[in-house]
Amino acid sequence: MAKRVESPSSINTFFQCNRKYYYHYIEKLPTKASIHTVRGNIAHSVLEHFYTLDVSSFQNYEKDFKVAVQKLFLEQWGAYKEELFALQLPQKELEFYFEETLLMLLNWCHYYLKEFKEKFSGSIEETFTKMKPITEVEYSSDFLSVRGFIDAIRSEGEQVHIIDYKTNANSEIKDSILLQLGIYSLLYQEKHNKIPDKVGVFFLKDKLYLLPVDQQLLENARFAIEQIHAQTMTTEKIADYKKNITPLCKWRTGQCDFYSVCQPYR
Ligand code: SF4
Repeated sequence: MAKRVESPSSINTFFQCNRKYYYHYIEKLPTKASIHTVRGNIAHSVLEHFYTLDVSSFQNYEKDFKVAVQKLFLEQWGAYKEELFALQLPQKELEFYFEETLLMLLNWCHYYLKEFKEKFSGSIEETFTKMKPITEVEYSSDFLSVRGFIDAIRSEGEQVHIIDYKTNANSEIKDSILLQLGIYSLLYQEKHNKIPDKVGVFFLKDKLYLLPVDQQLLENARFAIEQIHAQTMTTEKIADYKKNITPLCKWRTGQCDFYSVCQPYR
């Protein structure tokens, strides 16, 4: 069987539940959008557009950046109106996510402004350009047969930092996040022949958490990639993709996309 091209999310799905991986990536059953994925996309789009702002008319950067974030948010919320409407959420719930997402972005902007102040040199434009990361860049490796989109790559002096934005409720660096960051580090290393110095997550509700990239992080990612290829190159039979029945099958407010076809408790 040909080697599949995996991504951090397909690999994490595989380790969460082999059967879920099978339904999603082999049988390609449809999945449902959720408010969490849609508002995550909206927040990512705002941050991507933020770095393309024309700041030449900015006079009072504290106020102007905050206003710009709010404008971008309104634009992006509007751009996703069909996806939001399709979720058929009660108006009150939609308003809650609207406000919460805006607050997350303003929280991010607060940290951005703090750093902007510390790094201010010359002019607003110059500082803005100096602080600009490389955003939304696709990394792909034929050797690893993996690809992924990195939210932001920042140069801090001689150091390179890889950052992922998350709209999670909790700022917990779970194993799945470590695996994602390890995979990005391997992809970066292969392309640039340099291991990034730090990787991290900006939890938009909270703050940036950075970790040094060590051999363990890279080894774990390499091992996970080997394991998934070893399985998917050997078999595509449903019976070889075991169910992992956990509270992630069904919870108080939702269920796995494949719950009805899987029937885990039958
Ligand atoms: S319902 Fe549970 S066991 Fe079934 S595919 Fe989803 S996560 Fe896996």
